[in-house]
Amino acid sequence: MGCCGHDFISRDKIKIAIKKNTEDFNKAKPMVKAQFLKFRDRYHPMDLNFGVCRNLIEHSGQLFCPLHPNLHDGKDLREGHCDINHLCKTAKEFAKWDKDKQEQFLLFVKDKKIDNLTYSMKMDDNTLLEEFLKEEK
Ligand code: SF4
Repeated sequence: MGCCGHDFISRDKIKIAIKKNTEDFNKAKPMVKAQFLKFRDRYHPMDLNFGVCRNLIEHSGQLFCPLHPNLHDGKDLREGHCDINHLCKTAKEFAKWDKDKQEQFLLFVKDKKIDNLTYSMKMDDNTLLEEFLKEEK
């Protein structure tokens, strides 16, 4: 969620923001590109709610961006709206590691048994990365 907001206030506030976004999305029920863009542009990109992007939604326990290219045959509807190349520090470090170290990190995260919101916040503030590197020493 590092690319999907800034200065997250609290877990509860993030939940409220995502709930509101999801309600807006369910109300809009976008089916075609123009409708997704209309949903996207209902707020200015920098108009965040409690630090959360207005497009981040939840469905069946999954948090995701409905503008992502995976949902639009490769067309990226986020272009020009947010920094689509953003990678958090943890993701950048992860990409540099060999397969074994990446596997260790994934197991480390799995063992934490944290929910997706806690995971995202800890990825965003580098806590998981710092804990993992500390344990590794
Ligand atoms: S548009 Fe999508 S990917 Fe971009 S910041 Fe918002 S939720 Fe995240």
